[in-house]
Amino acid sequence: MDTRKVFDEIASHSSEEFYSVIPDGYKPGKTKYLVVTGSVISGIGKGTFTSALGKCLINRKLRVVPIKMEAYLNVDAGTLNPYRHGEVFVLDDGTETDMDLGSYERFLDLTVNKDSFVTSGRIYQSIIQKEREGKYLGRDVQFVPHVTGEVKNVLRNLAVKSKADMLLIEVGGTVGDYENLHIMEAMRQLRYEEGAENVCLVNLTYILEPSSVGEFKTKAAQLGIKKMLELGLQPDVVICRSEHPITQKVTEKISLNCNVPMNRVFGMHNVDNIYSLPLFLRNLGVDTAILVHFGWDQKFKLDGQQKALEQWTKANVVEKPVKAVTVGIAGKYTGLFDSYISILKALEHCAAVTQSKVNVKWIETTDLEKGKRSVEEAMAGVDGLIVPGGFGSRGVEGKISCIGYARTHGIPYLGLCYGMQLATIEFARNACGLKDANTTEVNPRTPHPVICILPEQEDIEGLGGTMRLGGYDVLVEKGTLAYKLYGAAKIRERFRHRFNVNTQYIDQLTAKGLVFSGRAPQKRIMQIMELPVHKFFVGTQFHPEFTSRPLKPNPLFLGFVKACLQ
Ligand code: GLN
Repeated sequence: MDTRKVFDEIASHSSEEFYSVIPDGYKPGKTKYLVVTGSVISGIGKGTFTSALGKCLINRKLRVVPIKMEAYLNVDAGTLNPYRHGEVFVLDDGTETDMDLGSYERFLDLTVNKDSFVTSGRIYQSIIQKEREGKYLGRDVQFVPHVTGEVKNVLRNLAVKSKADMLLIEVGGTVGDYENLHIMEAMRQLRYEEGAENVCLVNLTYILEPSSVGEFKTKAAQLGIKKMLELGLQPDVVICRSEHPITQKVTEKISLNCNVPMNRVFGMHNVDNIYSLPLFLRNLGVDTAILVHFGWDQKFKLDGQQKALEQWTKANVVEKPVKAVTVGIAGKYTGLFDSYISILKALEHCAAVTQSKVNVKWIETTDLEKGKRSVEEAMAGVDGLIVPGGFGSRGVEGKISCIGYARTHGIPYLGLCYGMQLATIEFARNACGLKDANTTEVNPRTPHPVICILPEQEDIEGLGGTMRLGGYDVLVEKGTLAYKLYGAAKIRERFRHRFNVNTQYIDQLTAKGLVFSGRAPQKRIMQIMELPVHKFFVGTQFHPEFTSRPLKPNPLFLGFVKACLQ
């Protein structure tokens, strides 16, 4: 089939049945589309796979741009509960996203923007807006072609805008979900329009290994992939996720039942260390198989780059830790590690750079409030304390007691956003004698509102996307610990908050030794605080965990871990 002809036909009939609006400057075939879908179950590491594969491709000098197509109807991830969905990751442009975006940014060492995170909610929002503006010229607005057309638009616009060699498209959910049907259908159309040589479909499936049977069972995977075939999507590559390495028999069954040649069926069992994943995929030949599909294996040959990937892997893996430390994380979502994934990753980055082992002790602070445990018990064996970002009053008093313990016992402390605000409250109460000091978020009638709402936030209504969000400059005061760690007078970090230090209390707080070492340019917003008499006591109004990258840990995290190691 002459796919160029298909594309031209469609492009010239864009306002009719095809409804494929082709952006100006779009050249079919210039940007290839790699589509990653999942079957059988969710949570098998599509995001990690996509990131690791992207790493292999970047290593071969391709310009890749990731995009997550999220199936849910929320416009962004800002209103999602971290306990159900994992952490809300914040992009530099202020977009609140799923945690997979964090994985892309870290693995690929890229800073992406809102174009890399598209939910069904956003797709429908723009369709409804266009409909209200009368842009559909009297037509009834339909699932096909309008919704699917909008999905393709988003991708083609990103292709033009980013000038990427390849878009890595991760489709949220699993094949067969109602929610992502329009995305799947859009992928089928995309492949028809662009040609199979420009769209590669990768399916990540799961191979069961029921303990009662004692062998691999491929039926669920077969059915999952058949579901894809029913949707008109023939996978080009199948990645079999499993707990243990799969056998030849599994490969054969998947190949025969799903029309995928054996050399394109790969096994990806659990690995101890995700940093070894890119090299693992490389050694299996996954990135080569994909480039062969696109006819690009000669264009992006593997020359000397393998060595760089090997070095990267080696540097990220700590084989023989020189020392181990335990960091306490006091939060309210301690039941789900994904709620704090960027913090855990930032600690991993520090562990690699210092070649040490960083253990985590989760401290459920509501237990302290209920009197189930004492602060001494909670902090036992902890070499350093992190209080992460948070909202609302649950667990707050427990967190404040842990912070007080860290401050008075010389235990390194890193407070992230809420962690900075609560450290300010603790200091106000116990070092400045401001009894019942609090944040107005918890107690609107506190006699000492040392933390209060940002002036710009006072009149905002609604919860979605309305906080002070994204990257802002921070002016770092010379001669402070923050300055020493960052080595720069101006830095940029990412924020997600409504409240901040009440400027009316700054004099009282600083009189007792607290230093505000980072401020916002032109605004009276305190962005870093530290306590010079302490070995390491730092709070940030921003989230330094979002900018930490493998082999380039965020300076404050690195300073904190080094202080814990001492
Ligand atoms: N609840 C606090 C605020 O809105 C802290 C937010 C956070 O920790 N991300 O300012």
